[in-house]
This record gives sequence, structure tokens and C-alpha cells, in this order.
Amino acid sequence: MRREELPTPCYLVSLPDLEKNLRLLKGIMDRTGCRILLAQKAFSMYSLYPLIGSYLSGTAASGLFEARLGAKEMGKENHIYSPAYKEEEFEEILSYCGHIVFNSFAQIEKYGKRVLDAGKSMGIRINPQCSMQEGHAVYDPCAPGSRLGVTRERFRPELLEGVEGIHFHTLCEQDADDLKTTLDAVEEKFGEYLYRMKWVNFGGGHHITRPGYNIGLLEECIRHIREKYRVTVYLEPGEAVALNAGVLLTKVLDTFSQDGGIAILDASAACHMPDVLEMPYRPPLAGSREAGEYPYTYRLAGPTCLAGDVIGTYSFDHPLSVGERLEFGDMAIYTMVKNNTFNGMCLPAIAVEREHGECEVVKAFGYEDFKMRL
Ligand SMILES: *Cc1c(COP(=O)(O)O)cnc(C)c1O
Repeated sequence: MRREELPTPCYLVSLPDLEKNLRLLKGIMDRTGCRILLAQKAFSMYSLYPLIGSYLSGTAASGLFEARLGAKEMGKENHIYSPAYKEEEFEEILSYCGHIVFNSFAQIEKYGKRVLDAGKSMGIRINPQCSMQEGHAVYDPCAPGSRLGVTRERFRPELLEGVEGIHFHTLCEQDADDLKTTLDAVEEKFGEYLYRMKWVNFGGGHHITRPGYNIGLLEECIRHIREKYRVTVYLEPGEAVALNAGVLLTKVLDTFSQDGGIAILDASAACHMPDVLEMPYRPPLAGSREAGEYPYTYRLAGPTCLAGDVIGTYSFDHPLSVGERLEFGDMAIYTMVKNNTFNGMCLPAIAVEREHGECEVVKAFGYEDFKMRL
């Protein structure tokens, strides 16, 4: 079917746009010898894992269910990091993952021997205490009081026996210059231990597929660490894999004027694009401009009872009409993995668009998906 025929709301992932990102990431792997994993936290649309796996080295998981999904649906390298593992889940995690990253030396003392006995590779997450995000503490694992990663003060070299990897993840939507600054801090604080390692994982948060990203500098950083310490370098981007590779299709349900124009959509910020409220940010919308730039300005809002379920204020060159379709951009990542059925909202369908605009619904949701969890 065509895009116009898809049900709304619907996440529509463009395969050509996804493959464009994947080709770019594969080029970095080919040129530098690094390995790139999909961080499933951002994008877990497993029907596309065979495609993603044909470019990337595997998956990164944050817990048992993602580990299982990566193992079953991609079946390539599967790494896991979790702030703490549960005893009753650990054996199963070991069966799915080749690389297990711990968040403390106490967790290594508890589980390390089992990792080695299973013939798996063990790593420790460090906190280089190098904050690269001003004012965004919620996305800053180096913020004071962070639970993510071991600082130099808490590092226990006497417990490194059997540890083969160092993992850090401190960036969020950042360019390679911030990676370079971070690597300088990692080397300064932990450099002496890197020589003993087999791999170093640079985490995610690299906005590699954003236009203008400094790929040359990223590749320099990878080569530098790889050659100096003789390690395999891993990157585990989530966002960059499916950046700008999907839209959220929605329809106007009603319009009226009340302290300015209002349009109610069948997509909800609170349920279907939670980062709009959490981050917060104003998502791009095709054919629109900033408030007041075009003659017709509307607050676009969701159909829930939450007063704050507002996506943003946008202007159009025509008055919006009931039934009209709108397309919010960059909606593949951190959406279908985070959405919810608050207020009994139906989850958006998930669809793919192939070359020449041919579309197909992969999954549709209904009442049972709401009821099942309650
Ligand atoms: C969130 C996360 C990622 C992916 O981050 P992006 O910003 O989506 O690239 C990778 N690794 C870890 C440990 C994470 O927590």
C-alpha cells in the first residue's frame, strides 16, 4: 500500500533511510577495524534485525529481555551492560551474551567467576568524570552522584584478574570532538589499565549519522586507541543507527480557536513520543514552520486527558482541516521502545516503507495490548 493508505497513528520506518545510516556505519567499521553494535534501547524493531545485522557486528543490551531479543533475532555478537544483575536472571543472560559488562567491582566479585567459567568476556564500566553536557543531567552519566560506571577513586586494580574490557558511555547526541575530550580523560585516568585489555567500548551517544558529524575525527580516535593499546574498539550507538529513518503519521481529529489555534491529533506526546515531554524537545513536522512564520498557527496536542499532552506550536500555509494527515520527523528512535497505553490510548501501528514508496504494516495494536498489562 501507499503511505496515504496506512492507518494512523503509525510509525513508518524508511528502509532506504535506515540503510543509508547502516552503510555509513559499515564504512567506519571497514576503514578502522572497529566493531559497531546496535544499542537496542533506542530501536528494537526486530523485524529489521536481519537487515541491520547484515551491516553491523551485533547488538548491545541493557537487561535480560533485550539480551534475549538480540540473541534470538540478530544472533551475532551480543553485549550486555546493566547497573546491576539479578541472581535469578544471570544464567540466562550468560547463555545469550558473549560480553558482560559490570558496573561495580562488587558485581564482578559476585558473578565474575561464572562469566569466566562460561568462557565469556568480562568488562567493567568506568566513569571518566568528564561531563560533556551542560544542563542535561538526566542524560549525563558523569553528573555528580551518577550510579553509572566506576570512578578512578573507586577503581580496584587488584580485582582486574580476568577483566578483558573497559566500557564507558558518557555522550548523548554528540560530535567527535566531545568523544576526543572524553578519551583524553579516559586515558589520563585509566590509561595504565587499558594496556591489559582486549577491548574498549566507547558506548553510544555518537551522533554519527547526523549531517556534518566529524567522521574523520571519530576514525582518528578509534585508530589511536586501537593502535596504542592493541585493543578491539567497539561502539554501540542507538540513535545513530535509525536517526531520521522514520516518521510518525497522524491525523487531525478536530480544530478550534481558544487562546490561539488548537488542533487535536490522534497521536499523543505522552503516549507515542514520550521524549517530546521528557527531554523535552519540539519534533520536526513536514510542511510546517515556527509559530507565526506562516499565517495559520496551531498548538498541536494529543487526544489524552493530560493537559500537558502538547507536542508543540507550529504554523502552516493553510488552515488545518479535520482528517488531514501530518508527519512528525525522526520518530523511529526512542519511540516504539518507550511508548505506553496511558489513558487507554492505542499504540501506533508499525510499518516499513521500501524503495519507490511501497509500504507494509508490520504490526498493528488493539484493545488486548492495553488490557493485557493491567
Ligand atoms: C543509551 C545507551 C546507548 C545508546 O545511546 P544512543 O544515545 O542512543 O546512541 C549505548 N550504550 C549504553 C550503555 C547506553 O546506556
